[in-house]
Amino acid sequence: MREAVAALCARYGEDYWRRLDAERGYPTEFVREMNEAGFLSALIPEEYGGAGLGVIDACVIMEEISRRGAHAGACHAQMYVMGAVLRHGSEAQKRAYLPKIASGELRLQSFGVTEPTTGTDTTKLRTTARRDGDVYRVNGQKVWISRVQHSDLMVLLARTTPLEQVEKKTKGLSAFIVDLREAVGNGLTVRPIDAMINHHACELFFDDLAIPAGNLLGKEGDGFRVVLDGMNAERILIASECIGDARYFIDKASAYAKDRVVFERPIGTNQGIQFPIAKCYAETEAAALMVERAATLFDAGEKCGAEANMAKMLAADASWNAADMCMQTHGGFAFSREYDIERKFRETRLYRIAPISTNLVLSYIAEHVLGLPRSF
Ligand SMILES: Cc1cc2nc3c(=O)[nH]c(=O)nc-3n(C[C@H](O)[C@H](O)[C@H](O)COP(=O)(O)OP(=O)(O)OC[C@H]3O[C@@H](n4cnc5c(N)ncnc54)[C@H](O)[C@@H]3O)c2cc1C
Repeated sequence: MREAVAALCARYGEDYWRRLDAERGYPTEFVREMNEAGFLSALIPEEYGGAGLGVIDACVIMEEISRRGAHAGACHAQMYVMGAVLRHGSEAQKRAYLPKIASGELRLQSFGVTEPTTGTDTTKLRTTARRDGDVYRVNGQKVWISRVQHSDLMVLLARTTPLEQVEKKTKGLSAFIVDLREAVGNGLTVRPIDAMINHHACELFFDDLAIPAGNLLGKEGDGFRVVLDGMNAERILIASECIGDARYFIDKASAYAKDRVVFERPIGTNQGIQFPIAKCYAETEAAALMVERAATLFDAGEKCGAEANMAKMLAADASWNAADMCMQTHGGFAFSREYDIERKFRETRLYRIAPISTNLVLSYIAEHVLGLPRSF
């Protein structure tokens, strides 16, 4: 599978990604080919037209895309957002959506959770969905919602029961499938955000958007559970992208260190250049083991919250350290866009913040694994 993904990626060289980055373009052709090859439907069971593979296999796909210099950001969402439909959708919803997602007819690339005023404090989100006959009416705002303009469907999290009326703050939130093709211009306004990386993230404004009641995913009030289940898969897959990025930077730095001659010898002869590369390698291999462990637990249906969080944090740290090391190894040339390092450097930085920031991972480990007092 690694070889097959690498062969497909080879048709989209780094010049392709550099051009898209400069033009703020979307890798439509790449995503289409990845889909046609069956990679993006890896996690969809065979009975719904997918490959029926595990997260461990999906990790190989994501890692390889990143390692080949591509930007995996346009590929990961379909894999984990689909999980919300698979695990919590009714049989009718699964039959209606999953085969079309697997064939590429429908793109489920968007996941609407984050809000401008509440950020990481998800249970306080202010977007509401109020039942009105056969529809829910949605009002509120989201921010940083990636790929909305390149997706047909979005999974949305909104509050259906006010926070003051629920016994637990995680209750009273509901998840919906939003058909973006109908919603945009009919109660949903999309405004792209000019950002440091080419991730196609947008602000969303909901003004009485009507969603058919049949588009509720899972039970009303249980939406937090619906998105939380998918979050472990999201963290593991993104961690594997970070491993791919880290290996990309290590490969690139090693090659350059052997090649670049200064003071009449390759710079890689100096331990001041060698050791940072070796350290990044060791960190990356250790993080990759944690990613593998988290994916194995996930596929076995076992609890993996701690491992998924740790994998995400360790892999994001490894890729960021490797990015910095690669910049340093390349000296001034690292700043030239032609070398692609600065592009990947910008891209990999995201993962220490999204989809969950390092502090929140540490907080999870402290409270849920080590039993330390809650801080919020
Ligand atoms: C390019 C991009 C794409 C994204 N795509 C999506 C998407 O598709 N869908 C979606 O729903 N969201 C998306 N996001 C949002 C992303 O998940 C959030 O930015 C991220 O979860 C952090 O939330 P925030 O930005 O509101 O930070 P805040 O919650 O405001 O936090 C700011 C900083 O304070 C720290 N902090 C906050 N509270 C605490 C605490 N109690 N203890 C210690 N530290 C704390 C955080 O760790 C962080 O470093 C995207 C973001 C970006 C930048």
